[in-house]
Amino acid sequence: MSPTFAALAAPVPDLDALAARTDELVAALGPDATTDACLGVIHEWDGLRRRVADHRALVDLRFQQHTDDPVARAEREAWGDAAPRWTELTTRVKRALLAHPRRAELERTLGGQVFALWATEVLAFDPVIADGLVTESRLSSEYVRLQASATVTLDGERLNLPALVGYRQHDDRDLRHRAERAFWGWFEQNSGELDQVYDDLVRERTGMARALGLDDFVELGYRRMCRVDYDRGDVERLRAAVREHVVPFAAELRARQATALGLEHVYAWDEQVHDPAGSPVPGGDAEWLTARAREVFDGMGPLGPFFRTMDTGGFLDLPARDGKAGGGFCTSFPTTGMPFVFANFNGTTSDLKVFTHEMGHAFQCWSSREQPLSDYHWPTLESAEIHSMSLEFLTGPHLERFFGDGAHSAERYRRAHLTDAVLFLPYGCLVDHFQHEVYSRPELSPAERHEVWWELERAYLPWRDWGDLEYPASGASWQRQRHIYGMPFYYIDYVLAQLCALQFRARAQADPAAALDDYVALCGRGGSAPFRELAASAGLRSPFDPGCVADVIDVARAALA
Ligand code: ZN
Repeated sequence: MSPTFAALAAPVPDLDALAARTDELVAALGPDATTDACLGVIHEWDGLRRRVADHRALVDLRFQQHTDDPVARAEREAWGDAAPRWTELTTRVKRALLAHPRRAELERTLGGQVFALWATEVLAFDPVIADGLVTESRLSSEYVRLQASATVTLDGERLNLPALVGYRQHDDRDLRHRAERAFWGWFEQNSGELDQVYDDLVRERTGMARALGLDDFVELGYRRMCRVDYDRGDVERLRAAVREHVVPFAAELRARQATALGLEHVYAWDEQVHDPAGSPVPGGDAEWLTARAREVFDGMGPLGPFFRTMDTGGFLDLPARDGKAGGGFCTSFPTTGMPFVFANFNGTTSDLKVFTHEMGHAFQCWSSREQPLSDYHWPTLESAEIHSMSLEFLTGPHLERFFGDGAHSAERYRRAHLTDAVLFLPYGCLVDHFQHEVYSRPELSPAERHEVWWELERAYLPWRDWGDLEYPASGASWQRQRHIYGMPFYYIDYVLAQLCALQFRARAQADPAAALDDYVALCGRGGSAPFRELAASAGLRSPFDPGCVADVIDVARAALA
């Protein structure tokens, strides 16, 4: 029988019982334990981890669905307080397995990747930095709280920041300009506090890295992201390739955009508008889109039955609602192997992008449910984004179904989507480069950090013109990027994945069936291998290979000719 969301129990974990059981499991992993005995322990321990992960996912999801429900908030906070103790318990088991004399045999059965992951995870955590982690988490929340509480007046109307961002695609150019000014006005007013929070974060993170015996936070940041098969030198070369091969083409796309829009010049507030006729709008609401998605996925092999299981089991929450948190994401319940997709459809073009993106995450997670360990249900983030960003392109030939007027809107959508994919690459590298500068020179003052951003913005986005908006023009626009505050070094992942997704797009044009087969097989591998190995297994060139960026961009250039 198919699982249903309503039947998920996910009770509160009993941490005292889990601590007692962890003691017994670690004791059972003594030096004399046979390989089979170790595998038995790992199997039981993974079952415990899955049940805890179910609970964490459920309380987090319920809170995002009903942010105004005090019970949902209390349940989520209770787990937030308890979680570090659980991390400490799982770290003990990981350490015992990493040091075990049977490790080589265990790696043969479970794969080497999980040991590489555990090794970076245990290196990134030590009780000596426990207080630092709490401070870091508090500072990150402070940034979220600041932004979430922001209200701004636009033409006499009080708006929050996400609502203002919605004006970036508005047809009325003056209104876009006023909205952009209002948006940055809030950042300017809060400039001191935004700088202070980041300065404290940089100092705290650098302190933790040094307490762990590292030179700077860059290395700790890479460990936290579990990057086991590439380093900062590889990433530096990738950014250089993007500057050389993508930036000139992106500048050309901006010039074409000005011509298409009948403008002399594209200012920052024009950048989100590609089409003089406006952005194409999907043909219906969440229910209508779900029905169309069923038809689309039925034509895409195993995605058909997968989507029906999600839909009939109640694992989709798509329409925007009062009290619901913003954004879209995919979470999962590892005891059942079922993912859950959360979104905020509001009848705009972004509904389709979010839908096809999050369904890619969901399909990968579902396809990986038979992997031997829950560590393999999700890959590391640069690999995970391949599945989501590639499905955005693999559904491309079916997009006619999602628009009321079929081919006309679908073709406009495909073109804007590919254009955005190219234009994102320089921005993604800019955000990454900035963080490398900040954390390798932690002594920089807030004003010096703004100068760093200002200079890098010239290198990666030479077309960017802030016009009369002095605050972002002064090198402050990084303050809007929440990853820089809350998820350090999580950004180049999107660049790596996009360069893979663009390869899937090109291959799907040449041979759709073969591209889909490779995609499905890649999703089934989950996180059982590191990034380069996963990419190679799907016939993708690693973006780190010399020439890869140039070749990917040549194909995109031809498609956008
Ligand atoms: Zn994603």
